[in-house]
Amino acid sequence: MIPTTTPTNFAALGLIQPLLVRLTELQYQQPTPIQTQAIPSVLAGRDLIAGANTGSGKTATFALPILQKIHAEKSLANNGSKSSKGNYVAGLILVPTRELAKQVADNIKSYAVHFNGEIKTVAVFGGVSANTQMLALRGGTDILVATPGRLLDLISSNAIKLDRVKTLVLDEADRMLSLGFTDELSALLVLLPKKKQILLFSATFPEQVQTLTQELLNNPVEIQLQSSDVSTLVQRVFTVNKGEKTALLAHLIKQHQWRQALIFVNAKNSCKHLAEKLSKRGISAEVFHGDKGQGARSRVLEAFKAGNIEVLIATDIAARGLDIEKLPVVINFDLPRSPSDYMHRIGRSGRAGEVGLALSLIDYEDYHHFQVIEKKNKIRLEREQVIGFEVDDVINDALLNANKPMAKPEGSGKKKRKNKTSVNADIWLRNS
Ligand code: AMP
Repeated sequence: MIPTTTPTNFAALGLIQPLLVRLTELQYQQPTPIQTQAIPSVLAGRDLIAGANTGSGKTATFALPILQKIHAEKSLANNGSKSSKGNYVAGLILVPTRELAKQVADNIKSYAVHFNGEIKTVAVFGGVSANTQMLALRGGTDILVATPGRLLDLISSNAIKLDRVKTLVLDEADRMLSLGFTDELSALLVLLPKKKQILLFSATFPEQVQTLTQELLNNPVEIQLQSSDVSTLVQRVFTVNKGEKTALLAHLIKQHQWRQALIFVNAKNSCKHLAEKLSKRGISAEVFHGDKGQGARSRVLEAFKAGNIEVLIATDIAARGLDIEKLPVVINFDLPRSPSDYMHRIGRSGRAGEVGLALSLIDYEDYHHFQVIEKKNKIRLEREQVIGFEVDDVINDALLNANKPMAKPEGSGKKKRKNKTSVNADIWLRNS
């Protein structure tokens, strides 16, 4: 990630030696823009609202100050002040998905290695047995990363109490609310002490999130990253005839030979169907969706992260927070239902300053919805075509001129037309 704000270094942000040493080992050469802007305020105890997606370095933004504060408290405790005992938690991080819970906890543990086991971090999430998590929570934990539902279950079994939380992080707040965690969140919030620091991270700010921030946060520092801070991501959209999407996808994968590609579809079944169709065209792909068991999901994800899977077809469960390094391309085979999910999906590519590509394949049925996605996300992309996959004339004319939902064209001629944009797209794909 290349910071675009005033150059600084981690020491200048007020971080202490055990963290600085670790950041050097991890080869974090300088703080990302959100780290530069937020870490000093978080260390000073301020509440925070940050408009930041995964890839911006947001995990370290909350994890490093939380670790530093817990370390300071423990040092005080060793000097005679009261230490935390029982099923307490000091830093609580709420996340929308199991994968994100594991990933965030792993990051925190990695940042904490030079505290020599002094700071305990536990991740809890649904889909696996609660017993192991209960055991892990025995004696309390300094940092707990949790999905809301499982956390409530553990609280009702007295495995953990929230009355000593000092810092609450709401990570991916928009996703948490859009996944329907509103009730769980309300139930958890009343269990927290009145006095606490709250850090809220959200890629988008729909009304629900705005209401939450107004109700919860106390005079927060607000940080909204500029798009130039976020990534070097190129977005493109290809129009294609309905029925030719799979062929176009296979053509792109073969022609371009991306090291890895993440392909999004909207339904669990579609993952399997698309994988079968690609397989018939000589492309092997794995699938990742919510019906897979937790073990299978973790295995696929680890294999993808390790580069052992080249093509992964996933539902939106993979759109949030997964930190897959330097993913060269994300493809929307199906458009996401919500415009904010579009941003989350494409955020899987172009991570940490790497150049990335987000492609959307749209047929006439997607056209109006893509306009809505563009409008909500304040983007406007040129419609392009790939040589050999040009849209039928009758549809193309309507696509290029329409500002309203398209009526399904009558009949569908086979007449093709090569136009300037299609040639450009092809050249670009070969050269990039
Ligand atoms: P996040 O947005 O927290 O998911 O972080 C995205 C990726 O950037 C992760 O792989 C982090 O390890 C990495 N990262 C975070 N901060 C920095 C930094 N200052 N320099 C280099 N990489 C970073």
